[in-house]
Amino acid sequence: MQGWEKNVRRVIPYVPGEQPKRENIIKLNTNENPYPPSPKVTEALRQMDAGTLRKYPDPSAQELTEAIAAQHGVDPEQVFPGVGSDDVLAMAFLAFFNSEKPILFPDITYSFYDVWADLFQIPYERQPLNEAFEIVKEDYYKDNGGVIFPNPNAPTGVLMGLSQVEDIIRHNGDVVVIVDEAYIDFGGISAKCLIDRYENLLVVQTFSKSRSMAGMRIGYALGSKKLIHYLNDVKYSFNSYTMNATAIRLGTAALSDDAYFEETCARIIATRERTKQELAALGFTFADSFANFVFASHERVLAKELFEALREAGIYVRYFNKPRIDNYLRITIGTDEEMDRLFTFLREYLKK
Ligand SMILES: *Cc1c(COP(=O)(O)O)cnc(C)c1O
Repeated sequence: MQGWEKNVRRVIPYVPGEQPKRENIIKLNTNENPYPPSPKVTEALRQMDAGTLRKYPDPSAQELTEAIAAQHGVDPEQVFPGVGSDDVLAMAFLAFFNSEKPILFPDITYSFYDVWADLFQIPYERQPLNEAFEIVKEDYYKDNGGVIFPNPNAPTGVLMGLSQVEDIIRHNGDVVVIVDEAYIDFGGISAKCLIDRYENLLVVQTFSKSRSMAGMRIGYALGSKKLIHYLNDVKYSFNSYTMNATAIRLGTAALSDDAYFEETCARIIATRERTKQELAALGFTFADSFANFVFASHERVLAKELFEALREAGIYVRYFNKPRIDNYLRITIGTDEEMDRLFTFLREYLKK
């Protein structure tokens, strides 16, 4: 090793799902929304003037911040926007997880949490989900340096009821509790209604899944004014201009179309429920999912084998070669046509 390499911060990075260059594939591997963003976004994009890109964007992203606040019925000072919820979560780790005590998160969860913890040198302890892949709330009652979990959880899709989420928050008054609600719009009840009662609660949501805008990179946190203030202090110590002018404009446009949002979410939920029936009939088992994916295991054929056969056929799903979940496939809910092609392939393949 060269001398200078001794001072390099070494990290094992997060591995995002594959974005294949291949044409005509069915892409059910990164939980993207199969429907395009609202026509209002298309219209706003058309009306954007490239000349305005000469200027720096509004560092506070006020237009978007106010639209998000109005959407959720909170004060704009309770909103922190960022470049996807990954950016918001990373800032939150940096701002709030500074204890000598370990932060707590589930053993099976979003695989970015341990990456950020390692990057920022935050001690952590994983709490095992039970056999039904549920979070055991009592595991989070012990002394700790902070708590984070997704609700619904990823990649399991399992939803925790609001009263249990509140139990965890109530038992953790001395640390910040982050609820990552990337999939909450597909049938869960948000913990955002608790932010006025718990000053230490941060709720994080994203435009990537339910708003069909993963490519635009917009996420945000909702919390007490105090928490949001601390987040802004960290952000302005790092990069003032996180949100670009296009994201601010198009994100605001997306929020002006509730009808489209509700319709596309309802369609995905309907396709998900049908997917559960089809998969069960094909011999798959899965925990009940409240997200835009199903995490399923086949009674006979190994997940890795299915993953490879599907890939060969141009159907991409996600496979995690990790303890406890290496016999599961995470299948994103696509359009009805895409799911039908998946079922047709599986029906044929499983006959063999
Ligand atoms: C997709 C996802 C995110 C990140 O989404 P962004 O595209 O960065 O907004 C965060 N948490 C979970 C659990 C996710 O599944």
